[in-house]
Amino acid sequence: MATADYARRQMRQVFDRAILAHPRLSQLPEYVRYNISRDLETSCHNSAVRECIDWHIECTYGSPAFISRYSSLCDRYARNLDVTSSLESDELGNMLATDAFLPSRITELSSRDINPLSTQSDYEEIRIRSEQKTEKKFTKRYKCHACGANRATYEEVQRSAIDEASHNRICCLECGNVWLKTGV
Ligand SMILES: [Zn+2]
Repeated sequence: MATADYARRQMRQVFDRAILAHPRLSQLPEYVRYNISRDLETSCHNSAVRECIDWHIECTYGSPAFISRYSSLCDRYARNLDVTSSLESDELGNMLATDAFLPSRITELSSRDINPLSTQSDYEEIRIRSEQKTEKKFTKRYKCHACGANRATYEEVQRSAIDEASHNRICCLECGNVWLKTGV
């Protein structure tokens, strides 16, 4: 089908340009660059087909929903590959140049695999937050008013003012009842 050929050729050219802009990929022999570009585009095409089948969307280049999914996949990977794009990363191209993974499997990569720097700050924040989380300790010191059980967890509640008395947040392991207790 002419439309499909045209659309896919356009996308191949987008990948070709990104490959030629990359310092390492541009040094590869022409047939290798050709294969990488073809495999990247085919991988996006195949992923778009699989997704559209799952969503019961018509998988033809006459279907705007399919075209939209296909082009956004191609666009995403081409942008990550293109060192001149706003992402300014050569990571994905380096991985392709060193055979760290096959271009035909590009759509299996997560955002973090593709561009570790773009997501690094998010991961850092999650790590810090998880370390700040107070540790829950188990105790038999408190009796639950709701169910009478004495198995609970407790953790110190962080207060904004330093002169405020510290509180423990107690949570009953039997019924989930939660209460605060001062200065224990
Ligand atoms: Zn209870």
